[in-house]
Amino acid sequence: MSEVLLEASRLTKRFGGLAAVNDVSVRLELGRIHAVIGPNGAGKSTLTNLLSGDLAPSTGSIVLGGADVTGWTPERISRQGLGRSYQKTNIFLPFTVWENVRLAAQSRAPRAASWLRRASSFADTNARAERALELAGLQGRRDAIAGTASHGEQRQLEIAMTLATEPRVLLLDEPLAGMGTAEAERMVGLLQRIKPGHAVLLVEHDMDAVFALADRLTVMVNGQVIASGTPAQVRADANVQSAYLGE
Ligand code: ADP
Ligand code: MG
Repeated sequence: MSEVLLEASRLTKRFGGLAAVNDVSVRLELGRIHAVIGPNGAGKSTLTNLLSGDLAPSTGSIVLGGADVTGWTPERISRQGLGRSYQKTNIFLPFTVWENVRLAAQSRAPRAASWLRRASSFADTNARAERALELAGLQGRRDAIAGTASHGEQRQLEIAMTLATEPRVLLLDEPLAGMGTAEAERMVGLLQRIKPGHAVLLVEHDMDAVFALADRLTVMVNGQVIASGTPAQVRADANVQSAYLGE
């Protein structure tokens, strides 16, 4: 097993009578992509929102980078090393690609434990933005106005903006949504590049991408985990085949 960066145990989230997430545990490890799949309404986005602190769990706990972060605000969880992309974009469309990434790098709140980081210079911020731009494969588009970039490039930019805050854990909710084949292939390449330095939770419907990228795979249906394991184990699971993959 690789270094565990996030461990969520027995998370449940109730909305009135509905358990949108029901007793779900996930572990995210450095250098691994953990994919979560399941039909619409399965609870995948709710799970993502619990891990990022955008929603508080009804029960269960989340340990991130060695700290129990259950009930923390999203800002504090982000300072503890978690980054997420939102389906609703944070991109400032009149600015260039580079300016957006640079602003994201600058906006990173200093980590409470590190006085050194608080003193980080313009040069550090530029270097962080430059690294994020390169990882996201957008060096060639740095001077493009964000609003004129293609859908795929805007999704890459969102990820670059998240990377600019230097998270160790990344939560990505359907990063390939709405993409054509070429755009999807570029995004898969991007995710392969960022994998070594990060622990990634990937919610995704595109099964080609999931099976190309995932080291671990969790299948959710109606808020519950019906299977979890390596992609090969999950593919062979009879419950999954009848309940979800439709094979
Ligand atoms: P998925 O991302 O897998 O499609 P969601 O996590 O978005 O699923 O939703 C899971 C279930 O929880 C759905 O039945 C949805 O209607 C419900 N749900 C999600 N968010 C809320 C909310 N804020 N209030 C009430 N019900 C919600
Ligand atoms: Mg969703």
